[in-house]
Formats: sequence, structure tokens, C-alpha cells
Amino acid sequence: MKAMVFIWLLLLSLMTCFNFAEARPGGGHSSSGHSSSSSHSHSSSSFSYRPSFSNGASHSMGSGNSNPATLFVVLVILVIIIVIIFKYQNATQSFVAAPTIINKARQQSTIKQALDLLKQNDPNFSAIIFIDFVHSLYTKYYGYSTHPEYSYISPFLSTELQQHFEKAALWTVNEIVINGIQWESISTQGMDTESISLVIDANYTLHQQNKATRYAVTERWLFYRQKGLLSAEPDKMQTLCCPQCGAPAHFTDSGECGHCGTVINKGEKQWYLGKRVVLRATALAASDLVAYAEEQGTQRLTIKQDDLAEQMQCFIQQQSLPDWDSFWRPFADDIVKAYFLSIYEHWSKRDWQGVRHLLSDRLYEANSFWLALYAEHDWHNRLDDITISQVVPAKIDLDKYYEAITVRIFASCFDYTEDSNGKIIGGSKRNRRSYSEYWTFVRRTGKAAHTSTYSLTSCPQCGAPADNMGQTAECGYCGSKISTGEFSWVLFLIMQDDVYEG
Ligand SMILES: [Zn+2]
Ligand SMILES: [Zn+2]
Repeated sequence: MKAMVFIWLLLLSLMTCFNFAEARPGGGHSSSGHSSSSSHSHSSSSFSYRPSFSNGASHSMGSGNSNPATLFVVLVILVIIIVIIFKYQNATQSFVAAPTIINKARQQSTIKQALDLLKQNDPNFSAIIFIDFVHSLYTKYYGYSTHPEYSYISPFLSTELQQHFEKAALWTVNEIVINGIQWESISTQGMDTESISLVIDANYTLHQQNKATRYAVTERWLFYRQKGLLSAEPDKMQTLCCPQCGAPAHFTDSGECGHCGTVINKGEKQWYLGKRVVLRATALAASDLVAYAEEQGTQRLTIKQDDLAEQMQCFIQQQSLPDWDSFWRPFADDIVKAYFLSIYEHWSKRDWQGVRHLLSDRLYEANSFWLALYAEHDWHNRLDDITISQVVPAKIDLDKYYEAITVRIFASCFDYTEDSNGKIIGGSKRNRRSYSEYWTFVRRTGKAAHTSTYSLTSCPQCGAPADNMGQTAECGYCGSKISTGEFSWVLFLIMQDDVYEG
């Protein structure tokens, strides 16, 4: 079967080439040059609009008036290809079907081993907290960029990167939204340094000479620090601050803290950004936002952590629970499904503030931006009649400070976007759209198992209504900051199934 599909694809592509060659003398024919690479970047945080992806091959099929000699040559080539394919059918099958999932599983397992090694030497290391640190640095790196405040973050940048914007004309970058951060590699084998490489998908708006352009970028960021360090406590890691005194990062060019006067040398107490590579950068048009595309990864197998069963055991032991089921059932119903439905309902109603206490800071901020952008155009993205068909555990990550559980959620709804006149500008009211997403929930380690009285609409600390959480998710009644997962689960990350890698 797979070989047949492959042949069909070959046929298609040959016919397309054929037509394309004919069309060229007639002039131009460049309509299918649609970039699908850029669109990936803003897809991973977003709720419903997904990357625009036009299938350029299909439109040109079957319309060619070819001369018999050329057709004969093509047929001969096809026959040769078919013979070769059948001869190597087994090889072809594995080539077509399996590689991405196997490669992803392999890469995930390598990264997990490296993270375990890192945690062995540094028991304070927490992947969740490190991601928060990277997030703060990314936001400040661009937010300050060509401005004098750029020196504030000097101990967190290599000398080269400290000078990076020196020659740039003044600009302002804002509305910085990180959609996804993937681990790429971790090295603890060096003589005296260790390093972490990440791939970051983000969007930002660059204002220069009265012009604002929104960019989608993919960047590789490489962090270094001295070997043998212990990570700082969470409150010193989750915002960018002086590793010595904890004051907000206000350093001079030479790395002296404006508050306590300590000179912080790069990598001596904290990670610093040693290298940065822009892998992709694309200017986005407003129309990209409402471009709907086929769901890309819904049919794929769930990417599961290879030692998921062991992690489940470990987790229920820590919680003193008799078995996985006694955790999973209430978690899947009261947290995963309840959060999912509530979050999408509020998204649809454009009442993002109503679920502030269920979201991590960065998820809240990222999607606030998209909602605001929609509101600016007076577009309304609606997700009607959402149903969840399945929730599957995919990954458990436990460390000293955080418990993170990633699940894959299968759901469907009527997903469409209307303009101010109620005209549908994307999606469909009639065709139900099925999709799946990976959601990561986090909470601080050591919190007692939840009782069944968990409520979505009240503060998990004081029980008052969750109607007064402000922008920063500090309860207006008891003052507790809810979005760090200190008191209950918060949604930390949403990834689309076509970009999730474990
Ligand atoms: Zn200080
Ligand atoms: Zn409260």
C-alpha cells in the first residue's frame, strides 16, 4: 500500500513538473510558491488558526496537452522507477513511513538522558524553570536590543552578543511572543563548561522609522555555564535578576549589579547566552492569521516518553497513591478536560482574563497578544460545540521544584473566524474540525494530591472567587500568585501535534 502511495506521489510530481515546464514559456506561472515554513512559527501557541499551507501540486494536474514523444519518455522513466521501487519495497516502506517518529523518539531519549545527567550533578536543575529563565532573557534581549537598557542583561550574554546591536539603528521591538521552545542538545562532557542548545519559535513586532512589521522567527540559542554549579532557587531563576542579591537585572556593561555592586562574571553563577543563530525569519501579513489549513499531525501516533511507565510509578509513589488510575481519573476529568473546555470557552468569548488563574504567565501573555490582534481587526474566532474524545498521557517530568505532566488531547469543534459583520473569513460553521494537541500542566513539587472539591472558578489558595486575578494572576483576595503552580496545576504549554517532539 505504502509503495503505491509513493508511486502515486511520484506520478503527481512528474505530471506537475511536466505542466510546469509547459506553462513557463507562456510566462511566469509562479503561483504555487507559497511559503509554508514561516507559518509553522506562529502555529504552536495559537488556538485555532493554523499555518496556511497551500497544496501547490494539485491545481496543475491533468490539464497538459503533451506531445507523444515526451509522454513516451516520461512513461519509460516511470516504469523504471516503479521497477526500482518494487525491488526495494521494504527499504522504501521504512523510508516513507517511519523515520520522523523514530528519529523523534531517539532524540527525545538522548535529551532525557542528558537532562538526567545534568540533574545528577545539579539537583536544583528544573527544565520548567530553565525555560522560564530563557523566556525572560529572550523578552529582554529583544525588548532592550538597541536601547541603553541592553547593558542591564550583560552578565547573561557573551561579549560578542553584548555588542550585537551597537551598530544597529534605533528600533523598538515589542509584542514578543514565544510560541515554542524545544531542547536540541545538552552537553555536560566539556572540561569546564556545560551547554544547552534550544530552538525557539517566536513572533515580535519591530518598529523602525514609523513602520511596524511583525516577524515570525526560529532561532537557535546556545547557553553555557561553568561546570559544577548548582542552579539558583526558583524565585531567582524565573525572573532575570542578580544571582547574588536577587534584585532585578540592572547591570553595567562590565557586569556590575546596580543594587549590590557585585561583578557577575559570565557563566560563573548563572547560564549565559553564548551563541545565537537565526534559522528563519519571515515577515507576517495580517491575512496569515486567519488562514486555515488541513490539520497536519492528527493521525500520527502519540509521542510517548520511553520510560513513561517508570515515571508513572515514581509519581504515584511520591504522591503516596495506590495506583496510577487513582491519580489519572480525577486528573483527566477535573484538570485536563475541565481546563481544556474552560480555556477554549473563554477564548471563544474573548474573556481571556476569566482563565488567568489556570495559565502560566507566558501562555497567558502569548495568547493575550493574539486575542488583542484579533480584537484590533474586529475578528472573532469561535470554537463551537467542543467535544473531547480522548486524553492520553505522554510524558511526566519530575524534579525538585516542579511536576510536569504532558497529555495529548483529541477533540473536535466547529472552528471559524468572523469579521465584524459576522461574515466568515476562515474555517467553517458546517464542517467539524478534528484536531489533537499536547498540553503540559505543571505544579510545584510536594503539593498534596487534590481532593474532589477542586474548583475552576475559585482561588486554589483561599477559595475566594477567581474573578480578581489581575494581569499577573495574583489573587485579589489573598494576594497569592497562582500562575507559578504553587497552589494548583497551571497550563504551562500548548503544542500542536505537528510540532511536538516530546
Ligand atoms: Zn546584586
Ligand atoms: Zn486567594
